[in-house]
Amino acid sequence: MSELSRIWLSSPHMGGQEQDFVNQAFDSNWVAPLGPNVNGFEEDLERYIKEDKKAACLVSGTAALHLGLIQLGVGYADEVLCQSFTFSASANPIIYQGATPIFIDSEKSTWNICPDALEEAIKDRIKKGKKPKAIIAVHLYGMPYLVDEVHQVANKYEIPVLEDAAEALGSHYKGRNCGSFGEFAALSFNGNKIITTSGGGALVCPSSDAKAKTVFLATQARDEAPHYQHSHIGYNYRMSNIVAGIGRGQMLVLDQHVDLRRKMHAFYVEAFKNIVGVEVLSAPTEDFYANHWLSAITVDPEKTKGFTCEDLRAAFLEENIESRPLWKPMHLQPIFQQHPYYGDQVCEKLFKDGLCLPSGSNLTDSDRNRILKVITNCFSN
Ligand SMILES: *Cc1c(COP(=O)(O)O)cnc(C)c1O
Repeated sequence: MSELSRIWLSSPHMGGQEQDFVNQAFDSNWVAPLGPNVNGFEEDLERYIKEDKKAACLVSGTAALHLGLIQLGVGYADEVLCQSFTFSASANPIIYQGATPIFIDSEKSTWNICPDALEEAIKDRIKKGKKPKAIIAVHLYGMPYLVDEVHQVANKYEIPVLEDAAEALGSHYKGRNCGSFGEFAALSFNGNKIITTSGGGALVCPSSDAKAKTVFLATQARDEAPHYQHSHIGYNYRMSNIVAGIGRGQMLVLDQHVDLRRKMHAFYVEAFKNIVGVEVLSAPTEDFYANHWLSAITVDPEKTKGFTCEDLRAAFLEENIESRPLWKPMHLQPIFQQHPYYGDQVCEKLFKDGLCLPSGSNLTDSDRNRILKVITNCFSN
């Protein structure tokens, strides 16, 4: 293996001012799951996402999805439609609620939830006696899903959408920001995301009331009383003021990070331009503006004389460069196998042929040269 330092898929990239906000928290002793940085970070997010949305900062994107489902009224034995091609955190909160996930295939243009398979599933579930309670749609790798088509189906059957925008802060569709389309939307600030707070998330809410309810649930559901009084089950999901300080600093460099990730995507488009059988996931039309959190490709061995994405992954690894297969669809996961699935093998094939490539906003020219050398070596003969 190469002696050179590791090139990561996506690693934290600090802008410089994060520590100032964290120091302010220490100086004022706001070392608590609330405080000025939490309020400030929420205002930054609201200003960024627009559409009069309200943001509630939480400990993780997973917690945001969980509280989103709770507020959509998802409970025991309900059914929730969920994009199969995603990270398990999109689906796990359905199980936390004692509900059943119904998995939906992707379509080929954005790799996200297929509106036709979605409608087929809704019709079939209704026929079987139960109307699904919610739809979880994901903007995978920062590529917006087919927003108009998906929401048209959702509206037709009056089923609310919980938008998983964990990978899509900074992406937009027809000029409107991802995180503003669903009834609720989840954001993530995990260590590998486009901005990070080390760990954290937010639930984007439709109103101040919905945000207040989110914060109430996230802080152990304390009723108003001098003693501890509870009439709801609560959660300990609120973001700490220290962590929110990192978030405020990261918001100052978010647009810069989006530009740099998009430049990495353009680099791969150029690198694979003349290579038959390799496709880089790219916006299907100008309506789609992806943050390209991760650049992702498919390799079709029938067109590359048998060379596979796994061969490419091994070649990168040899040079100490990280790459990773695409998300393994949820309906193929041992834990979710028994749940219904509607689709036509699109995400199965993506999983078989796909690879995520180093995409960080902190990659250097020398990193890109090392990456390009591997690509050139692999495809030169
Ligand atoms: C990262 C991620 C999540 C979960 O966010 P955490 O902050 O890690 O809990 C959910 N959905 C998708 C698609 C993600 O990529």
